[in-house]
Amino acid sequence: MAIFIIRMNGFDRFHNTSPIHHMTEAQPIQVMGIHNPFVLSLQDPENTTWTSGVKLKLSCMEKCHIQAYWGVLVHPFYHQLYSQWQTFEARVESHELFANSSKCSSERVWLDEGQEQCLTFKPPSHATAEWETETSRPRSRYPLVVVVVTVSETAAEELQHQPHKIMAYVAVIHVKDSTYPEQSCVFSQFVKTASGQVCTLQQMYMSNEPSSTATDYDDVGGGTCVVCQQAAVTHTLLPCRHACACHSCFRHLDKCPMCRGNIESYFVIEGVSEARETEDEETSSTLIHRPSLMTRFHQLNDRLTERLGFT
Ligand SMILES: [Zn+2]
Ligand SMILES: [Zn+2]
Repeated sequence: MAIFIIRMNGFDRFHNTSPIHHMTEAQPIQVMGIHNPFVLSLQDPENTTWTSGVKLKLSCMEKCHIQAYWGVLVHPFYHQLYSQWQTFEARVESHELFANSSKCSSERVWLDEGQEQCLTFKPPSHATAEWETETSRPRSRYPLVVVVVTVSETAAEELQHQPHKIMAYVAVIHVKDSTYPEQSCVFSQFVKTASGQVCTLQQMYMSNEPSSTATDYDDVGGGTCVVCQQAAVTHTLLPCRHACACHSCFRHLDKCPMCRGNIESYFVIEGVSEARETEDEETSSTLIHRPSLMTRFHQLNDRLTERLGFT
């Protein structure tokens, strides 16, 4: 499972060798492939409510534990999420994470390395009844926050040498209710690295079926270029995140061929398996969640966040 961290400030120099044919002036951005050990999906979202509980499928490549927190206040959520890794971990261990800022939390469930498990989290009925009184718009609480933490045997000193190692995965889940009856969904996903950096996982929308020539890109679930319908997709356009153009077609694009959106920047998928290490910890990053390549258009998380009206 690979992830691309987009280095927002680390622009490559861009050699525009053919100004006549090269339509886009978008700047490429650097990406860095890192390994995300966790994949979480919401099962049966149509029938997911506070009363039914939430069914989640978690696949993990590392030993970990998962815990669910119901009705988490938004501001303390971000405050704790963005704390140093050691602080975050200590809060988890001492059961203080979101302790005073959530309505209740589940038992901790442990998973072994390489395990895939379906889990059901159901809030106690008093929490559900209390939640029904939360009719304000926008809401000050997230319905459900799920936190997966790596059980690491790696010493703290060693982690300093692996600043990009993902230590925790956090998902914010909308669970429908009478105030916000939109279908339940995972609408924000974050990963927290050993350096304490928090990255947002965002979906990359792959154009279509894998290309017959997509040998090098199979690792990232490559599709076929929507323009020439032949070559493998090499370019992901931003901000729309459509992975839809090959090298040569990209040079003729002035808009995204899938959504007609402007191309403000892009990154190249090919070669991302050679993770580019950089010491620049200050850089703000966005993550593209590799497993989501396969799920394509299923979760338009950002739009839902807007629509659901959380503060
Ligand atoms: Zn093409
Ligand atoms: Zn697009």
